[in-house]
Amino acid sequence: MDIKDLQRENIKTLKPYSTARDEFKGQASVFLDANENSFGSPLPANYNRYPDPLQLDLKDAISKIKGVPIENTFLGNGSDEAIDLLYRAFCNPGKDNVIILPPTYGMYEVSANINDVEIRKVDLLPNFQLDLEKIAEAIDANTKMIFICSPNNPTGNSINRTDIETILANFKGLVVIDEAYINFAKQKTFIQELTEYANLVILQTFSKAWGLAALRLGMAFSSRPVIDILNKVKPPYNINQATQDLALAALENIQQVNDWIKITVSERDRLSNLLAKLPMVKKVYPSDANFILAQVDDALGTYNLLVDKGIIVRDRSKVSLCEGCLRITVGTVEENDELIRVLTPQPPKGGAENPA
Ligand SMILES: *Cc1c(COP(=O)(O)O)cnc(C)c1O
Repeated sequence: MDIKDLQRENIKTLKPYSTARDEFKGQASVFLDANENSFGSPLPANYNRYPDPLQLDLKDAISKIKGVPIENTFLGNGSDEAIDLLYRAFCNPGKDNVIILPPTYGMYEVSANINDVEIRKVDLLPNFQLDLEKIAEAIDANTKMIFICSPNNPTGNSINRTDIETILANFKGLVVIDEAYINFAKQKTFIQELTEYANLVILQTFSKAWGLAALRLGMAFSSRPVIDILNKVKPPYNINQATQDLALAALENIQQVNDWIKITVSERDRLSNLLAKLPMVKKVYPSDANFILAQVDDALGTYNLLVDKGIIVRDRSKVSLCEGCLRITVGTVEENDELIRVLTPQPPKGGAENPA
C-alpha cells in the first residue's frame, strides 16, 4: 500500500508554507527575518519569538517516554486537530467516506461533517465489540479511514486486540486507533505495531492521564509518509511556545502522573463496586478508562438530582446502545464518596423505625 496514493489530489501537489524558521535554521545573534518584536515580550518568559514549528525538543522528550522516533510523531492542538487534519489531508469532500463505530467519541463525526466527508456508521455489538462482518460490508473503494476508539468513549471498554488486528491486516485505508484512555487500560498500546503497518495511526493525548487538558496537546504516531503529510497540512505554528515549555516541564513529572493513574484505576474499581450496590443502578459496565458508564432507572432524574447537589456527570441516555446511561468520570476519593453519598437513598426522616 502506498500512503501517498491515499492523499487528496490537492494535497499531493500542495506546496506548504515555508516559515522564516524553516528557511534559516543555523546559529545567529540578530533575528530580523520574522517581523517579531525585537525588544521582548511584556511577560517574564520570552514569548516574542515564533515557536519551533516542528516542536523538536518536545518530541524528543516524548520519544524517550513512548519509544516512538521523532519522525513518526505529530503534535496537534489537541488530538482534535490531528483528527481534523486527517480528514483534510486524506478525504476528498463529497466523494470519500470514513467508518465510525458508534457509540463513540463525537469529534470523528463532527469533523467529517465540517469537511463534507460521508460517515458510515457501523454500530458496536451489544457487548461493545466490533461487528467485523458489517464493517467489511460498509467498506468500498472510497473508504479512506476507520476510527477505532480503544478504550472506547463513552462505553469504557477496550476493543478486542485480535479484531483490530484483523482490520489492520485487511483494510487498505488508514486505521486510526484513538488511545486517549490507554494509560488506564489493561490492554497495551498498539505503538509496537507501528513498524508493521504503514496505515496505522495512533492518537494519544495530554488531556486525560497527563492532566493537561487546558494546554491542548495531542499526539499522533504513524508511519513516516502519514506524519510528513500531516506536517505539510498543519498550520505552521500549531503548538504555541507556552504549551511546548509547560509540556516539557510536565514530562519531568512522570512519577506524579503514574501515581495518579494508579489511584484513578483503584478508585474506578471501588466506585464501580459502590455504584453497582445502589438500588437505582441497573448496570455498571466494566471500564478500562477513567470513567464509568452506568445504566440507571431514571437517567435524567438522576442527572438532575446530582446537578442540584453540584455534581455534574454526562447524560448519555439518548445515545443508541447507551439507553438510560450516565457517564461518570472517576474523581478524587472525596469526590467519589460525595457522589455515592448523594445517590444513596436516605432512610425516611423523623418517623419511628417500624411505624407499623
Ligand atoms: C478526551 C478525548 C480525546 C482528547 O482530545 P484532545 O483534543 O486531545 O483534548 C480524544 N479522543 C477521545 C476518545 C477522547 O475521549
